[in-house]
Amino acid sequence: MTSKLRFFNTLSRQLEEFEPIDEGKARIYTCGPTVYDFPHIGNYRTFLFEDVLRRALELFGFEVTQVQNLTDVDDRTIQRANENGVSLREFTDRYATAFFEDLATLGVEPAEHYPRATEYVPQMVEIIKRLEAGGHTYRSDGSIYYRISTFASYGKLSGIRPEKNLAGARIDVDDYEKEDARDFVLWKAPKEGEPVWETDLGPGRPGWHIECSAMAMALLGETFDIHCGGVDNIFPHHENEIAQSEGATGCEFARYWLHGEHLVVEGEKMAKRVGNFFTLRDLVEKGFDPLVVRYLLISVPYRQRLNFTFDGLHAAEQAIDRIANTLRRLANTPQCDGVGDLDQATVDEFHKDFRESLGDDLNTARALAALHTLLRRVNTALDEGGICGERRAAVDVAFKEADSVLGIFPRNDAEAGSDAEIDLLIDERKAARANKDFARADEIRDELSAKGIVLEDTPHGTVWHRE
Ligand code: AMP
Ligand code: ZN
Repeated sequence: MTSKLRFFNTLSRQLEEFEPIDEGKARIYTCGPTVYDFPHIGNYRTFLFEDVLRRALELFGFEVTQVQNLTDVDDRTIQRANENGVSLREFTDRYATAFFEDLATLGVEPAEHYPRATEYVPQMVEIIKRLEAGGHTYRSDGSIYYRISTFASYGKLSGIRPEKNLAGARIDVDDYEKEDARDFVLWKAPKEGEPVWETDLGPGRPGWHIECSAMAMALLGETFDIHCGGVDNIFPHHENEIAQSEGATGCEFARYWLHGEHLVVEGEKMAKRVGNFFTLRDLVEKGFDPLVVRYLLISVPYRQRLNFTFDGLHAAEQAIDRIANTLRRLANTPQCDGVGDLDQATVDEFHKDFRESLGDDLNTARALAALHTLLRRVNTALDEGGICGERRAAVDVAFKEADSVLGIFPRNDAEAGSDAEIDLLIDERKAARANKDFARADEIRDELSAKGIVLEDTPHGTVWHRE
């Protein structure tokens, strides 16, 4: 069985086998949300790719330490808090809470650390002091800038080579376009209506990029294994993180850089600014099970764009139903001793294919295909007479493995209520038939049928599945 994980490293622009710094351990930094609003499902596509990454690392035997920061001070959070007339902390707390609720709803495995930028200002100041001592900075009007010409490999991640004649040209905003590759701000001079920290650098507040360098190094060390984000983070955010961190420490910052492609709507990136977005809450309100949203968002390999459509969401809904129906059939069909059985080779093939797919730069589409093949084989075996106990145990292990990474199997707690009600009605129908009250028995069948529940009377009793 293969045990190799290969990732496309944005830094080297090639597929590389994952080799951690410390054997058996994987230290990961994932840029988190800017807590100024409810994240949209595009943001969650990135966070879910990172969730699949950590779960895959765990399946492959690595002990994972993941950091996901909350950006709770930057141009956007300050502006929105002011517009709402509340303190920055009160404002960002609201959306931090909403973010954690959404993560739980989507079944994301919690990271080990969720640092908030505002709690790491002293660490940011320390890095800026080191950069000053190393001659990487200059001051202007109370702000401190990173002089990118002092970092010879500036542009190594994004491939951007800043023009020489831009020397001294500065940019003050947190986020900017490639054509604005210039000296960027590390520490911003105090401004009316903005929070201020009194520090050794003088009063002011941090720029966005320095926040991630500080939180990553404080919690994972000066060099760690994997750094992730969406492709829009490559420039300027991650390029600047490298310049700051490596400029200060002189050693490599992160070894593997993984970037997720965007969720798009009719070819355009889903974004708040464009208005073409849905939040998770919007979709749940429309009646979609969060598992369906999760399924859709992870169904396309992370380095390919994913076009969001309601048709896609409905197809994901069907896939989730297929999984739930097979699990229910399996649970409701008694064991047999071999007829119509599933051979062990089929289950072994699943494990091999599933791991190879994940090892192949987290190819979730292929991993899902492997799972659906196994589900089909299980259904056929059940049609043909059942599955013996030993093989059932093997199938359970296979399903557990699939779910440990994909997280798309129906959760028992959510299903329990409705399943129990259905079972009760089926019991009542059985009693009605025994009493020759066929009218009531038919009524129950019709009632369930209206809810999309199909009953099958088998020699082993009545089993049901959703349409
Ligand atoms: P933000 O809260 O804007 O800092 O974004 C949080 C994360 O979501 C970042 O890693 C972005 O790269 C990512 N992101 C933003 N928009 C999209 C999108 N449409 N599709 C996928 N990821 C996105
Ligand atoms: Zn970041």
